[in-house]
Amino acid sequence: MSIIDEAKIFKILAETKNAGPKTAEAVIKKAKERKGLSMEEVGVLINLSDPRLLKEMFNTAAKIKEEIYGERLVFFAPLYVSDHCVNNCVYCNFHTENKNLKRSKLTMEQVREQIKILINMGHKRVLLEFGEDQKENPIEYVVEVINEIYKVRTEKGNIRRVNFNIAATTVENYRKIKAANIGTSQLFQETYHRATYAKLHKGPKADYDRQLTAHDRALEAGIDDRGLGVLFGLYDWKFEVLGLIAHAEHMDKAGGVGPHTISVPRLCEAPTVKYAPEYPVSDEDFLKIIAILRLAVPYTGMIISTRESPEIRRKAFKIGISQTSAASVTATGGYGKSADASQFKGHDSRSLEEVIKDALKEGFLPSFCTACYRLGRTGEDFMYLSKPGEIHKFCRTNGLLTFAEYLEDFASPGLKKDGYKVIEHYIKKIENPVMLEKTRAGLLEIKNGKRDIYY
Ligand code: SAM
Ligand code: SF4
Repeated sequence: MSIIDEAKIFKILAETKNAGPKTAEAVIKKAKERKGLSMEEVGVLINLSDPRLLKEMFNTAAKIKEEIYGERLVFFAPLYVSDHCVNNCVYCNFHTENKNLKRSKLTMEQVREQIKILINMGHKRVLLEFGEDQKENPIEYVVEVINEIYKVRTEKGNIRRVNFNIAATTVENYRKIKAANIGTSQLFQETYHRATYAKLHKGPKADYDRQLTAHDRALEAGIDDRGLGVLFGLYDWKFEVLGLIAHAEHMDKAGGVGPHTISVPRLCEAPTVKYAPEYPVSDEDFLKIIAILRLAVPYTGMIISTRESPEIRRKAFKIGISQTSAASVTATGGYGKSADASQFKGHDSRSLEEVIKDALKEGFLPSFCTACYRLGRTGEDFMYLSKPGEIHKFCRTNGLLTFAEYLEDFASPGLKKDGYKVIEHYIKKIENPVMLEKTRAGLLEIKNGKRDIYY
């Protein structure tokens, strides 16, 4: 059985088109149990247009987000390591036919420089981005970069979790990366629609099945935190959402571990890209996608990037997003420089401090936590712990402690004051007396200079 059964997806979309309000209400009610939804149930939500039920769906998404992820919002930054690429993806500025782009890849010295900049901004997690080029970016280079990053230390600390987004590769190569102590392996299918995929890609990435089965190979190599994604705009979002659910179901059934994260990139303009999305996704539909996914796969983290505007990001945080990038640069080695070789043009150029201030105003607790992965709570173990109650036990404490570190080391006096107010607010919500005591003691230690306390 193929992972993506297109006929089944189209059938579900057609059959759920006229599902009545009773059916939709039943699906939303089931979602409240936080056990996830079937593809048919997701179809009902995709086709929902009744304003009352849509409101109910958004409220439910916000409630699930709150119950499972609490007030935390985890921050990371991408690092573009190499834009050498042999593929010709029509939407990306790094496409191989772009002869005007002066291609570059980071030397180890440049890796160290870039990582120091990110550390000194306050980041603790990075997501590495590479183009596909066996000659320029062989797996040995990828591994060398990861090893180098973990070695970098400044007086402000170090990067504690490295995630990566590289082209689909072999089990053997994933094993080499796993051995370098990697976090999540992110790889986007871009579009689950085979004919559209074939039309938009040239080069080794044009192999739809290689892309689709990459996460299975990563798992075989021992990487159990894997991140899915679709590039919204390439094909009908309704089909893509069911594609994501089908892929997640496959991962769950085949390997016993569902996706760790789902990313929701929406197509942005890019310098040399003439491709205009055939299926542009409106802001309204984009938020609907996030809410539906939150109901369908409640325990899968959801990631939004600086491709989106501050306004959309604010709304998205409330209804489902649990992780976000901030102050991102999408050009190779672009931190600390004025970058003109970006992969695409994002819509949020605010500094990390500005994004954090905004998040605080909205009632979120910024978190730089990397504890689960460092304590071996990945894959199935992580999923088990994400059940309400369990994860809160650690996450709130870890969120508070890592945010206090940020405030001590990076925040302006005004932000520090506001930040500690938020810390005081959320510390009161820790119900477990042991964790409460540990958190209070940890905060005191952090104020006295100790760092990297986690549970
Ligand atoms: N080269 C690897 C690959 O394609 O899988 C990974 C890195 S690529 C830098 C990361 C992602 O950026 C791609 O998977 C694609 O979804 C996204 N992307 C490319 N062009 C984009 C654009 N114009 N707007 C928004 N996202 C884009
Ligand atoms: Fe290369 Fe990735 Fe850009 Fe495609 S999306 S051209 S594979 S960098």
